[in-house]
Amino acid sequence: MYEHIEREDAEVYAALIGEEKRQAEGLELIPSENYVSRAVKEAMASSLTNKYAEGYPGKRYYGGQEFTDAVETLAIERAKKLFKAKYVNVQPLGGANANIAMYFALLEPGDTVLGMDLSHGGHLTHGHPVTYLTKIFNFERYKMKNVETGEIDYAEMRKVAKKIKPKIILAGFSAYPRELDYKKFVSIAREVGAISVMDIAHIAGLIAGKAAKNPFDYGFDIMTTTTHKTLRGPRGGMILIRESEELAKKINKAVFPGFQGGPHMHQIAAKAIAFAEALRPSFKKYAKQIILNTKAMEKVFKKHKARMLTGGSDNHLILLDVWTSFGISGADAEALLDRAGITLNKNAIADDTRKPMDPSGIRFGTPALTTRGFKQRETTRVAEIMVEVLTKRDDKTVKRARQEVKRLALSHPIPESFL
Ligand SMILES: *Cc1c(COP(=O)(O)O)cnc(C)c1O
Repeated sequence: MYEHIEREDAEVYAALIGEEKRQAEGLELIPSENYVSRAVKEAMASSLTNKYAEGYPGKRYYGGQEFTDAVETLAIERAKKLFKAKYVNVQPLGGANANIAMYFALLEPGDTVLGMDLSHGGHLTHGHPVTYLTKIFNFERYKMKNVETGEIDYAEMRKVAKKIKPKIILAGFSAYPRELDYKKFVSIAREVGAISVMDIAHIAGLIAGKAAKNPFDYGFDIMTTTTHKTLRGPRGGMILIRESEELAKKINKAVFPGFQGGPHMHQIAAKAIAFAEALRPSFKKYAKQIILNTKAMEKVFKKHKARMLTGGSDNHLILLDVWTSFGISGADAEALLDRAGITLNKNAIADDTRKPMDPSGIRFGTPALTTRGFKQRETTRVAEIMVEVLTKRDDKTVKRARQEVKRLALSHPIPESFL
């Protein structure tokens, strides 16, 4: 692997080999990460990276588009089928870019978005004060009514929506382990004349694999997403429109020329391949196994009476209050588990009293482990190792855990193909 890089650039080569080894020998529990197939990687490394293709299939600003048009059309048609969308834009370079284009397509400066509170699971791009989006648009919040069950306060949301008249009602999350009541979102949005948008970045693979409900079945107008999380494609973004041609035109204009220049055609080819993989029956099995594996981990933490936000999980991720459960901060827990070869991230919990850089919780999930072929037996063991390390914390326990983690990882190599 990387034979040309090895010969021509020893420094980058050393870093690449280091990362290959880290991924092979460690256990990846960051719920937004995954492993792509060799076919997806080949597309990412293809000559399509050389090509400028500003515009859309059939309407480009440069010549020589015979094959780029073919590739982008394949990606669009496959995405339509996967998510039951009438229109799709596959050009956003990432999830944040997709959201930014979506806001500018649908809003005027000063307009209001009603989105999930960030400490209750929303994403930075849903209006965190550190983003420049908040200089332009007005973000208001809804929250969970009960953080022990995860139930959203829909009555309050409706009341607030009627008062502030948002242009967009935004659903979706990065750290919320339950399914939303999509019907309620859509009915509130329609009642106040807002466009309903669901950011499915985290659960796109679960929806594509039919292990989670499709918000379009409940009347959502638009979905934004990443393609590299549970969907298991290349790093990138996408915007899906259920049926409105008018909205689709606005979205396309906002992505290009509104915000981006030439689309990354190598990335779009990789998206097309990943979507074909997700259309296979084996992907349904994968999506279902992600949830079974999360449930297996949930059981271990329940047994140890650890506090999980919303009481557990119905999807691919768990949010664990390590401060209450183990008397250790989120940052310390992340560092400790990292030493054991278990990679995950510290995370704020709802209405966290600790600081963002050292919050009360950790967030972890099973998409990457499931890609490696982990089933309930192995994920149960991973959760048990986590409990051991978080409880004992001594060098001997961490060292023993690291050895077992390496054994587990090497006995489940990262697959090259998902045929
Ligand atoms: C990950 C994520 C994004 C951003 O995706 P990037 O590709 O990192 O820009 C946006 N929204 C949600 C809900 C996410 O989880």
